[in-house]
Amino acid sequence: MSTSTSPCRTIALFNQAGGVAKTTLTQNLGYHLAKRQHRVLLIDMDPQASLTKFMGLIPKELDKTVADAIIDELPLPIHTNIHSMDLAPSNRILSGAEMQLVNTPLRDFRLKEAIEPVLSEYDFILIDCPPSLGLLSYISLVAATHVLVPIETHLKAFEGTDELLQTLNSVRKANKKLSIAGFVPTRYAKSNSADVRALGAISSQLSAWGKIFPPIPRATAFVDASEDRAPLAVYDPKHPAVRLLEQIAQSLEVLT
Ligand code: ADP
Ligand code: MG
Repeated sequence: MSTSTSPCRTIALFNQAGGVAKTTLTQNLGYHLAKRQHRVLLIDMDPQASLTKFMGLIPKELDKTVADAIIDELPLPIHTNIHSMDLAPSNRILSGAEMQLVNTPLRDFRLKEAIEPVLSEYDFILIDCPPSLGLLSYISLVAATHVLVPIETHLKAFEGTDELLQTLNSVRKANKKLSIAGFVPTRYAKSNSADVRALGAISSQLSAWGKIFPPIPRATAFVDASEDRAPLAVYDPKHPAVRLLEQIAQSLEVLT
């Protein structure tokens, strides 16, 4: 049990690009927050359900998923205590939400409403967004108090940042409280001069928008850990990136 008296912080991990480590960071930062005695819920908002798989569940075998909460307004289905975290899982059924809710008034608030009944049970809720700017990301950002943006240390990562920042601005019309917790540079190879240049560009161009966290190194151990259905700190506790993930998790504690 956490001793924290802060209200729950709901953090959406968002970037419309795929493969930038949104899901990896959701699982790993959630794990370190849980190890620091916070009560943590992860919500998988991606129909591809990588987070659900990384947490050891089999998406197509699930009876209930976040789709039931989003499409049919049923309670969020929550699996408890997987690596000390709770999980609201997803599967492909969630991809129907966009079509099914097309004419539904107030659909943008469907995730926010689903979370409300459990807010007092958690210190942190981390929402793993899908790689798109569509409805599922939008309703995730409407439900969030903060957004954390994983960004690949690659110059092509800038191609989407204008749209990303525009999306955040447009979400603020529905969710004035949304604040940018920061940017986490990911898959960084310090021996690669292009990565070093990209990291410099991320720092100079995005620091006006939010904190730039230390870069997470590129390491195959992340792939191995996810295939092993475990956070990196469980798979390889001595891996150098573990300390970094712990530090980033710790700095999320000061968010208000
Ligand atoms: P996203 O959710 O943004 O699509 P994922 O978290 O699923 O991205 O990561 C995509 C792939 O990259 C996964 O196979 C994951 O294990 C791997 N990965 C994540 N972070 C790193 C890293 N720092 N170094 C190397 N591979 C990584
Ligand atoms: Mg993902």
